Amino acid sequence: MGTVSKALALTSALREMGIEPGKFKKDYDRPELRNEERCSSCRGLCCWTCGCLLSPDDFTKWFGIPPTLELVERELRKGYLSIVAVDYGSDSIFGMLLRMRRSGEQVVIMDDSPDIVAGRFGPCVAWREESGCMFDWKHRPAGGKLLKPGNTPLECVCDYPVESAAGEWLMFPDLLTDLANNYRGLKIPEPKTGWTPLS
Ligand code: SF4
Ligand code: SF4
Repeated sequence: MGTVSKALALTSALREMGIEPGKFKKDYDRPELRNEERCSSCRGLCCWTCGCLLSPDDFTKWFGIPPTLELVERELRKGYLSIVAVDYGSDSIFGMLLRMRRSGEQVVIMDDSPDIVAGRFGPCVAWREESGCMFDWKHRPAGGKLLKPGNTPLECVCDYPVESAAGEWLMFPDLLTDLANNYRGLKIPEPKTGWTPLS
């Protein structure tokens, strides 16, 4: 099946499941998204267990242009991102997401990846125990900004669901799939000491 037909087939299958390819509206200014007191007392349980999801918008915010294969690959090779396959309940239908990489994990995460099988979950590579997230608020990935702190860490709610992120990445057909095919099973070194986001 050609690229366009594949994208159309995936799009229509996802639509049937209520997952709409398209831009997800994000309101980063809602006050409930920021509770520095609560987050600093919790010290980042969310970031200690997983990396947050990236939206294609994050590339526009960081680099002034929407993501292209070359741009995403360049950033992927810096070692701070992972590509994750999301299963929608069928062997042939899955979406691809980009998220911050967890320390120690491979760069392409599928259901059968050793880290998933072994249940290894490290902290986000941009999280520091003493100082929290290395991104400032403005540059933080969408999934990190749209995480609403609750009364306890277990009550924190992410307002950027996996389906919405997958829907946004569907607007860039084959970009993440091609990268996942090229990098599956390969190791990319993680950022070295002294790395800062977007350096
Ligand atoms: S969002 Fe929730 S889990 Fe993350 S640092 Fe804040 S309180 Fe902790
Ligand atoms: S980028 Fe920042 S907010 Fe997102 S998971 Fe990593 S440390 Fe947490």
